[in-house]
Amino acid sequence: MPTPDRSKGMELSVSAARAAIAAVLTPITDCDTLPLDQALGRVLAEDLISPIAVPAHDNSAMDGWALRGADLGASAITLNSIGTALAGHPYSGSVGIGQCVRIMTGAVVPAGADTVVMQEEAQQDGSSVRIAGTHKPGQNVRRAGEDIARGAVALRSGTLLRPQHLGLAASLGLARLRVHRRARVAVFSTGDELRQPGEDLVPGAIYDSNRHVLAGMLARLGCETRDLGVVRDEPARLEAALREAMSWADAIVTSGGVSTGDMDFTRALLAKLGEVTFCNIAMRPGRPMAFGRLKNGERPCVLFGLPGNPVAAAVSFTQFVRGALLQMCGCTDTALPLLQARAHQPMKKKPGRTEYQRGILERDDQGMHVRLTGAQGSGMLSSLCQA
Ligand code: AMP
Ligand code: MG
Repeated sequence: MPTPDRSKGMELSVSAARAAIAAVLTPITDCDTLPLDQALGRVLAEDLISPIAVPAHDNSAMDGWALRGADLGASAITLNSIGTALAGHPYSGSVGIGQCVRIMTGAVVPAGADTVVMQEEAQQDGSSVRIAGTHKPGQNVRRAGEDIARGAVALRSGTLLRPQHLGLAASLGLARLRVHRRARVAVFSTGDELRQPGEDLVPGAIYDSNRHVLAGMLARLGCETRDLGVVRDEPARLEAALREAMSWADAIVTSGGVSTGDMDFTRALLAKLGEVTFCNIAMRPGRPMAFGRLKNGERPCVLFGLPGNPVAAAVSFTQFVRGALLQMCGCTDTALPLLQARAHQPMKKKPGRTEYQRGILERDDQGMHVRLTGAQGSGMLSSLCQA
């Protein structure tokens, strides 16, 4: 890691800051075993090995007629219908030469048969079924195990469980999943100027918006969140809030109080509570940030001190905290999706600095293009809402 500079804090690129943050994280190893309907948004804590083949049997992909592929010829054939196979009600006999069975989608392909001809391509007259046209032996049959073989890894440990993953687990007959415990995250805002929505604004005061943005982002990430409100800019209050948070949380997310003006007072306090790095990140918005480990007996707790400007706090959360919390919970795929789009207008940026501008993405027959939401001030939450 680069050496700290007392006056300015460390200067880090976005990727260097991500790496430095990753180095202070401690994985959450506690696990829960949960029924499927409680596992959405959790991270799988073990490989899911399929106890069965999916599908379990060869079955029909169509409503039609099950027959022996070897009976198909160059010209039309006529077969003798000997029974019916429905989903959940297999045909118990066997299909011989010159025979066929009426079969519905999902029904087990009967013994002897290996091919299904869809009903639109056959004419039935009593027990006689005439099949014209060209057909391939083996067609319209879903093979046993073609989706997942028995004993195969159906889902990898580290998968963030989305609805389709729960469906897959259910299709294997698994009723409970072993997942990582949710991250416990305490959040608070700092600043003497902050008031709560519903209160009157005295001159110079502003409403605390960051806590609502950050608590919302934490909730969407699936964290267990405790909101500690607003903490005034007094060392004793900040220390009390941090100690309360550390007694419970795996991570603390604060906003405000990390820019140069506040640094000495917070720096001295945080030096007492753990090892926290104050840095300047070569990005905009979101230049100042503090992160590090706080000491709480044996229990690890990581601090993310985000900048106070609302867009800066949201962007810093998205770029650094989101991935870090997912990583702590064992998630193996934490990268944000990155799209390439044509810009509508020229954009200026300082060389060596990463800029996160708010844009509106549109698609037409020439591909994706993006236009800016307008003024990009780091305090303008409205631009984040339009984006
Ligand atoms: P700071 O990093 O504490 O110097 O704050 C930078 C700017 O962000 C100041 O204009 C603060 O008033 C503003 N700010 C800090 N915290 C919040 C918050 N929770 N909600 C809205 N604005 C904030
Ligand atoms: Mg402040």
